[in-house]
Amino acid sequence: MQVAKGKVVSIHYTLRNDAGEVLDTSEGREPLAYLHGNGNIIKGLENALDGHAAGDNVNVTVQPEDGYGERHEALVQQVPRTAFGEVAELAPGMRFRAQGPQGEQVVMVTEVGEQEVTVDGNHPLAGETLAFEVEVSEVREATEEEIAHGHVHTAGGGHGWRRRAGGHECAAV
Ligand code: ZN
Repeated sequence: MQVAKGKVVSIHYTLRNDAGEVLDTSEGREPLAYLHGNGNIIKGLENALDGHAAGDNVNVTVQPEDGYGERHEALVQQVPRTAFGEVAELAPGMRFRAQGPQGEQVVMVTEVGEQEVTVDGNHPLAGETLAFEVEVSEVREATEEEIAHGHVHTAGGGHGWRRRAGGHECAAV
């Protein structure tokens, strides 16, 4: 069976940045399963896998525009420390959900000052050129429910670089 819209695809992958450092890998874990053609994974990788079959090895380099986008310096902001209310120990690397112009976004604390805290709303991989080494381990038909929900209902989803389908809570998992 070939990878096409409406198929559930399971992959093993290793993701490296431009410098060759491993950013993420499925090695030692279950393969990642996603619903093809739904934007569950970044566009550049999804396009590269189209038409492949189980057993295929696919190497693809994804530019930021087909990955997590370019970095936008406007998403780096200073907010008053009081905005964090109860959080006693703010530290770089902590993540918060914040209300932004395009709805809810995740921001990461990058610097903690006396009065002000710097937060960055860019995806951690924004601006990165991403090199994926992928092995397709399985291709199957999606269930009607998976197609209706737009994502996979078996184990294997939810790794860091997977684009979440709107944060929907799924009773059917
Ligand atoms: Zn669901």
